Amino acid sequence: MKQTTVWHALPPEEVLERLASGPAGLTASEAERRLREQGGNELAAPVRHPAWALLLRQFRNVLTLLLLGAALLSLLLGHRSEAAAIAVIVLLSATLGFAQEYRAEGAMRALRRLAAPKARVVRDGSEIDIAARNLVPGDLVLLRAGDRVPADIRLTRGANLRVDEAALTGESVPVAKEPATLRAKDVPLPERRCMAYAGTVAAAGRGQGVVVATGMATEFGGIASLLTGIEPGRTPLQKDLDRLARILAWAGLAVVMLVAAFGVFQGAPLLATLVFGIALAVAIVPEALPAVLTISLAMGLKRMARRHALMRRLSIVETLGCVSVICADKTGTLTQDEMTVRRIFAAGEMLDVTGSGFEPVGDFRCGGSSVASLPEAVNEVLRAGVLASDARMYRGQDGRWCVRGDPTEGALVVAAMKAGLAPSDLEAGLPRVGEIPFTSESRRMTTLHRGPAGPEAFSKGAPEVVLHGCTAWLAGEGERALDPEGVESILKIAHAMAAEGLRVLALARKKGTRLEDAEHGMTFLGLAAMIDPPRPEAKSAVRTCRDAGIRVVMVTGDHPLTARAVGGELGLLESGRLATGAEVELLSREELEDQVEVIEVYARMLPAQKLRVVEALQRRGHVVAMTGDGINDAPALKRADVGVAMGINGTDVSREAADVTLIDDNFASIVAAVEEGRGIFDNTRKYLTYLFTSNIGEIGLMGAAAVLGFPMPLTAVQILYVNLATDGLPALALAAEPSDPCVMRRPPRDPKTGIFSRGAVSLMLLGGAWSATANLGLMAWALAGGRSLPEARTLTFVSLVLMEFFKAYCFRSPLRPVLRSPFGNLWLNLAVLWELLLLFMVVTVPGLSRSFGGFPLTHEDWAVALLMAATIVPVVEAGKWGFGERDTRLPGLPVRLT
Ligand code: ADP
Ligand code: MG
Repeated sequence: MKQTTVWHALPPEEVLERLASGPAGLTASEAERRLREQGGNELAAPVRHPAWALLLRQFRNVLTLLLLGAALLSLLLGHRSEAAAIAVIVLLSATLGFAQEYRAEGAMRALRRLAAPKARVVRDGSEIDIAARNLVPGDLVLLRAGDRVPADIRLTRGANLRVDEAALTGESVPVAKEPATLRAKDVPLPERRCMAYAGTVAAAGRGQGVVVATGMATEFGGIASLLTGIEPGRTPLQKDLDRLARILAWAGLAVVMLVAAFGVFQGAPLLATLVFGIALAVAIVPEALPAVLTISLAMGLKRMARRHALMRRLSIVETLGCVSVICADKTGTLTQDEMTVRRIFAAGEMLDVTGSGFEPVGDFRCGGSSVASLPEAVNEVLRAGVLASDARMYRGQDGRWCVRGDPTEGALVVAAMKAGLAPSDLEAGLPRVGEIPFTSESRRMTTLHRGPAGPEAFSKGAPEVVLHGCTAWLAGEGERALDPEGVESILKIAHAMAAEGLRVLALARKKGTRLEDAEHGMTFLGLAAMIDPPRPEAKSAVRTCRDAGIRVVMVTGDHPLTARAVGGELGLLESGRLATGAEVELLSREELEDQVEVIEVYARMLPAQKLRVVEALQRRGHVVAMTGDGINDAPALKRADVGVAMGINGTDVSREAADVTLIDDNFASIVAAVEEGRGIFDNTRKYLTYLFTSNIGEIGLMGAAAVLGFPMPLTAVQILYVNLATDGLPALALAAEPSDPCVMRRPPRDPKTGIFSRGAVSLMLLGGAWSATANLGLMAWALAGGRSLPEARTLTFVSLVLMEFFKAYCFRSPLRPVLRSPFGNLWLNLAVLWELLLLFMVVTVPGLSRSFGGFPLTHEDWAVALLMAATIVPVVEAGKWGFGERDTRLPGLPVRLT
C-alpha cells in the first residue's frame, strides 16, 4: 500500500508535523530545497526533442532520402559535379529545415511556460501566488471556488468547501469536504472527505490544506495528464493545407510521370530521367510548409502574449480574425477595478469619502465639512464591510497599496482603514466560523463570526437582494423596524447613486443566529457606493472595434443604472439599447435572436443567461468572443467561438474552458488579440499564395515543355535550387511581414471562406500561369535564336529565380500596390540580397556553374532575364486589383481578396 493512503487518518497537526511544516507554511529556502530534492509538481515531463534528434529527423523524410538516392545515381552515371551539387542542396535544406523546426519547438515551449497554472500558498507566514509546478510537500495551499486542486492535499480548514472529483472518480456531483480526521484507515478514495486530490476542482466555498503529494506521486499522477498549456491538434488552416499539399503532390506526380514518359519516348537515358524526375518531385512537394506555418503561428502567439493575451490553442488565431461581436463583462475588463468607496449612507445620513485608489488615506465628510467622530451606524457599515470580505490590503514592492482578492471588497476594506479600523484587529476580535460565499447568482455574501457576546452574522451584496432579507434598520438611536415602504425608500437612494455610475452594496447584520438562518430577519446597516471608473484605453478600444466592423456588447451582473452610466461613458448605447437578465429570460428564442442585434448592454445577468445570448448571436451568424471569470461562466466560454478568461481575477475553471486568457484582465487586450489574429492570417495567406504560385509556375513550365515536346527547361540541380531559393528565406521573410496598418479598418473575415478564397486561388493560378508561359517563351526564343541548350537553360533558370524575387515583393500585400513602400520588409530585402549573391555565384563562378549545368551569361543575357522576370509584376498587380474586394469606407484600395 502506498504511504500516501493514510494521511486522512492523521489529525491535521500531526500531518503538519510529519511534513515539517506549520501554520506559517514553509520558508522560501526550505521550499526551494525540497523542490530541488523531490522534483517539481509535474506529471511526467513533456518529451523534449534534443537538437541532434531534430537534425537527424531532417534526413529521415522520404524526399531527402529520394534526393540522396538521386545523388548516388548521378555518381554512378559519372556526373560527379551534379552529385556533389545535389548533396550540397540536401545539406542546405536539411539545415534550413532543422533551424525552422528548432525555432518552432522553442517558441512552443516558451508559450507553454507562460500559460502554466498557478497556486496560492502560505510561505513565511504570508500568502503568495506561485507556479503550481513549484509546489512541494508541506506547502500550505489555499483553495477557492473555481480553483483546480494543484496537488494532493490534507485539509486543515474548510468553509462549505465542495470539490468536483469527476476527473478522478467519475462522480459528477461535487463532494462536501471538511478537515475532520477520519477514524478508519482503509477508506476508499471517494469517501476521504478531509482530502482534496490533484486534478479535481473546488466547486464552491473555500479551504486550506497541506500538500502531502505532488507530481507523479499524486493519485491523479498515475491515471491521467493534467490539462495544461497549449493543446495540440491540427487547426482548420493546417487541415486546409494538408489537403492542398496532397493535391499538389498528386499534380506533381502526374507531371513527373508525364515528363519521364516523354523523355524516355524521345530517347533520353532512363537513369538520368529518373534523377530529373526525383528532383522535380522534390521541388513540387511543399515540404517546408508545416514548419514555416508553426513558426509563424507561434511567433504570432508570442506577439499576442506580449500584448497580454495568452492563447491555449493555435487554431484560435484563425477564429480571432473572424470575430464580429465581443461580449465583455464590465467590472475589471472595461473598468479599472481600482474601486473606491465614495459615499456611505447610514442612519438616514449621507457621508462622502475622500481619497482615491487603494491608498488608505482620506476622510469622511458631511455637507462639505469633515466629520470628527463617525456615527455608530457608519462604524457598523465599515466593520461589516471588513468582516464579510475575504480581500485584504498589502503594500506592494513599490510601496503602493494592492488588494489581495476581489477589488469590490478591497474598496470596503480601504474605507474602513480610512476610518482608523484595523482589519486584523476586527478579525481577531470576531473570528469567522462560517460563511455563505458570493456567487453571481445570489449576488451576496454572508459570514458568521464568534464574538464575545455570541455569534453574529454579516452580509453584503446587491441592495435589492440584501434589503429583502431585512426586517429592521439601524438608526442613530438604535434598531428600528423596517417595513416594505422603508425598503422602497432606501432602494430609491441606492438607485440614485447607481444612476451616477456608482456600484452600490448594502450591508446588514444579525446577532445570535445560525448560518442557515442568517440571511433572513437581518438588520440593515447602510449602503456603500463605490466608483469603478472606465479604463481610459477601453474607450478607444471600443472605437477601434467599431472601425473594424466588430460590435462591442457589455454584459454585467451589475445594476442596470450603473451599467447604463458606464456603458454611456464608453460610447456604447448610442444606437443600441439596454436589457436586463430578467428581460432576456422572458424572450422566446426567436425574439431573442431579433433583440441581440440591438441590445448593447446587458445588466443583472446570470451566467446561464450569458449562454443564451451567445447562442442567439451565433444563430444570427456572428462569430462571438465572450469574457467570463466565474465557475458558472464555463459553459458560455466553451460555447463562444473565442472564450476569454481573466488572468488576474478569473478562476482556474474559467481559464480551462477559455481559449484566451488576458494577463491584465483588460478589454483592450482582447482587441489587440483580434488585431494580431487578423495580421497572422494575412501573413499566412501571403507566404502560402507566394509558395504555391511558385510551385504552380514550376509544374506548369515542366508540364508544358513536356507536352509541347521541348527539351526540359531546367536541369535537375537547377530545379532543386529554384525550390530552395523560394521555399527558404523569402517565404520566411514574408511570414514576418509587419501587419497591414489597415487590418483594423476593415470588416471581419467571413469564417466560411478559408485561406484559399476564390480571389487568392485566382491570384495563385494567374501568377503561376504567367511564370510558366513567360519562361517557356524565353527558352523557345533563345533556342530559336540559335543558342545552345545549356545557354537557353541558364537564361531560363536566371529569369525564373529573379521572377520569384519580384513575386515575393508583390505578395507582400494582397491589396496594396507593390510600389507603395516596396522595401518596407527588412527581412525580405536581406533575404533577396543574399539569394541574389548566391545566384550570381552559381552562374558565374566556373566550378559551381558547371555543376549547375549552367553557362556564363553575357550582360545582355542578364538584362533580358531581368526584363522577363519583371513582367510578373504588372500581371500580379492587375490580379490583385481585379480579385480584390472593395469597401466603400476605404475608397480606392481593395480591402481583401474575394
Ligand atoms: P460584474 O459582471 O460587473 O463583474 P458581478 O457578477 O461580479 O458583476 O456582481 C454582481 C453584483 O453582485 C454586483 O452588482 C454587487 O451588487 C454584487 N457583488 C459583487 N461582488 C460582491 C462581493 N464580493 N460580495 C458581495 N456582493 C458582491
Ligand atoms: Mg465581477
